[in-house]
Amino acid sequence: MTDHYEVLGVARDASPDDIKKAYRRLARQLHPDVNPGDDAAERFKLVTHAYDVLSDPDQRARYDMGGDGGGLGGGGFGGFGDIFETFFGGGGGARAGRPRSRRERGQDALVKVSLELGDVVFGVHRDIEVDTAVGCETCEGSCCQPGTAPVTCDICHGSGHVQRQVRSLLGNVVTSQPCSVCQGYGTTIPYPCATCQGQGRVRSRRTVSLDIPAGVETGLRLQLPGSGEVGPAGGPNGDLYIEISVAPHDAFSREGDDLLATLEVSMPDAILGTTTTITSLDGPVDLEIRPGVQAGDVLTIKGRGITPLRGSQRGDLRVGVHVVTPTRLDAKERALIEDFARRTKAPAPRLSEFHQGLFAKLRDRFRH
Ligand code: ZN
Ligand code: ZN
Repeated sequence: MTDHYEVLGVARDASPDDIKKAYRRLARQLHPDVNPGDDAAERFKLVTHAYDVLSDPDQRARYDMGGDGGGLGGGGFGGFGDIFETFFGGGGGARAGRPRSRRERGQDALVKVSLELGDVVFGVHRDIEVDTAVGCETCEGSCCQPGTAPVTCDICHGSGHVQRQVRSLLGNVVTSQPCSVCQGYGTTIPYPCATCQGQGRVRSRRTVSLDIPAGVETGLRLQLPGSGEVGPAGGPNGDLYIEISVAPHDAFSREGDDLLATLEVSMPDAILGTTTTITSLDGPVDLEIRPGVQAGDVLTIKGRGITPLRGSQRGDLRVGVHVVTPTRLDAKERALIEDFARRTKAPAPRLSEFHQGLFAKLRDRFRH
């Protein structure tokens, strides 16, 4: 897939103005009226598409985030069509000699949704507010005042184009230009609908009810075909994309379908063993800590992890033990520990395999 920035020869952080300039320069070189070669026509298409995507802030943002921006359709309110006209007059594809259609596909929309980790474990229902365009109820997308209709344009007689001879460095060139009276539509609307100003659609806020499945993760996009904005003049809807972001959790982090956490265990509990109740994302879970548990031991609670996006077998909850060494002892406690050390003939510190702290040790154990 070609990179839109490369096609236009601009940097990824190019300003809208730079992008516009680059496009104008290339379009002047490659426009089929000036440069009739097949190669130029092909490049002209690429350049035009690249500009189509990068000149629209929404589409550009989506493209930068990895959306392909392909097939997202120009047009829309003040979209590509208008800019194209400014340069050459003539909407995309309108050069074929047919008038352009007022009906166009609506733009895609992107909505970001922030979830808690608990939502990811079980899936969650959300009502999402979307600012979008919906069909105009007054004219039902016809763009005309009720009871009126578009009329054939007097100037281009419905073709949407006028021929013009232009003298240039290359000699006389005949260009087909979009009719400036009807903007290439071939018809004019004598009485535009007052509700939508002749657009066939109006801005509106809409609520989309959505079941977000379990197992989603940050950066994932759910596509809802046909839930984007309605196109001009009753054109088909674009798609709606829901981009997920998952807030970090205080205790649990995710690794694949498993959840990881650390359990702090006091020295006496580590030595003697104990039972405790931890608050998992499912609610309380009883946990038994065996006597003599070691720092870095991992306790696995089966089936308390995340339900994968595709599948039903939940991952595990894995809890790494962190033994907390007492740091403040009074004289009596100190004497007790010294006595304990003497009785157990506690061995002197000795060298062993290097590991980078508890987390490295945890990782190693998780791996085996
Ligand atoms: Zn209307
Ligand atoms: Zn016309």
